[in-house]
Amino acid sequence: MAKTTKYCNFCGRPESQVDFFIMGQGGVHICNECALQAAEIVRENTQNKAETPALHRDQVPKPVEIKKYLDQYVIGQDEAKKFLSVAVYNHYKRLMQENSGDDVEIEKSNIIMVGYTGTGKTLLARTIAKKLHVPFTIVDATVLTEAGYVGEDIESILTRLLQVADYDVKAAERGIVFIDEIDKIARKGDNPSITRDVSGEGVQQGLLKLLEGSVVNVPPQGGRKHPDQKMIAVNTQNILFICGGAFDGIEKKIAARLNTRVVGYGSASENEQIDKKNLLQYIAPQDLKSFGLIPEIIGRLPILTYLEPLDRKTLRRILVEPKNSIIKQYIKLFKMDHIDLIFDDDVLDYIVDKAIEFKLGARGLRSITETIIMDKMYEMPSTNDKILNITLDYARTKIEKANMNRLKIA
Ligand code: ADP
Repeated sequence: MAKTTKYCNFCGRPESQVDFFIMGQGGVHICNECALQAAEIVRENTQNKAETPALHRDQVPKPVEIKKYLDQYVIGQDEAKKFLSVAVYNHYKRLMQENSGDDVEIEKSNIIMVGYTGTGKTLLARTIAKKLHVPFTIVDATVLTEAGYVGEDIESILTRLLQVADYDVKAAERGIVFIDEIDKIARKGDNPSITRDVSGEGVQQGLLKLLEGSVVNVPPQGGRKHPDQKMIAVNTQNILFICGGAFDGIEKKIAARLNTRVVGYGSASENEQIDKKNLLQYIAPQDLKSFGLIPEIIGRLPILTYLEPLDRKTLRRILVEPKNSIIKQYIKLFKMDHIDLIFDDDVLDYIVDKAIEFKLGARGLRSITETIIMDKMYEMPSTNDKILNITLDYARTKIEKANMNRLKIA
């Protein structure tokens, strides 16, 4: 007698196309994939029913308090800190306005931060995250591509937020997303229609949907969507987006705009006041447009702020002042072996000089310090010495012996 084929009573696929069936009473079957999806639906519904606890006013840190907290970890960047602190505070207030009963609706103000690489954009975002009572995640815009291309779908930005919210959709819908390297999805060139711009305008259009506030289907595991995957609907209306980017070369656009303006008004004094060494402070939305962001995106990022380039004095402070500064970290490492580590003052200046010389910025401070004390970290735990004093001569010998090229790539 011929064997009758069994079918899944949910998706209709035959036994040959699935891994296995689970049998129910009355000869019904469910395939492994449908069972998994059913489980996800159950989990989601149970979680959605659980009330997300409302924010309590006392829990909400005031802008001054948020900035003070940032000051402990991030040196300088006062302007960006203030903007961020206010934006986060207002975000909380927006969340609390729900059910306020009047017609005034506070709209959200997403932020965009422009600053050279290594000036503290990500550090600011990470630090502020520690102070928050809402889900927070950092995503990198470079992996995003337009639907249908190799890379990740734009919606996957929200996957991470869902994951940190433990798939509690309601909580994720009140979260904050930091999108790093937003400049990498700028349109290349002025004419977008000549070739298809996989990582440019199409991605920006997709991102716009998220920024505007809409219900989007998010793949729960991220990456590319595929037909069998069950999507989770997330409303982005109350999600705060903070974007950051280096926007390499944008100073030229700023300079060009400032010159035109100054010439246009024929005012020489205005021209004189321009601080040419730090043009980013004059950044305006039209510069982002000249750089290749579409106007709709810029319109959805109404708060534009900048980070200062790090000068010698700031780098010196970064080395020692933050709560977990590099120097404090090394002192702690040695302390665990009961060794007192002391850096002479001129060694700290030397480390900063080298970071500038090798054009490594703040990121270089660690690799240079590490190079200087590497041999000691190797030797000292096996000796009985209890004090390690790093002198300028010692630091110089170590750096001069080191392979500079290795440092530069670090
Ligand atoms: P960006 O995101 O702007 O490229 P990061 O925030 O990743 O730069 O900075 C790289 C590293 O440099 C940080 O982890 C931190 O150690 C150090 N750093 C940069 N800027 C600052 C700053 N203003 N204060 C303290 N540390 C900083």
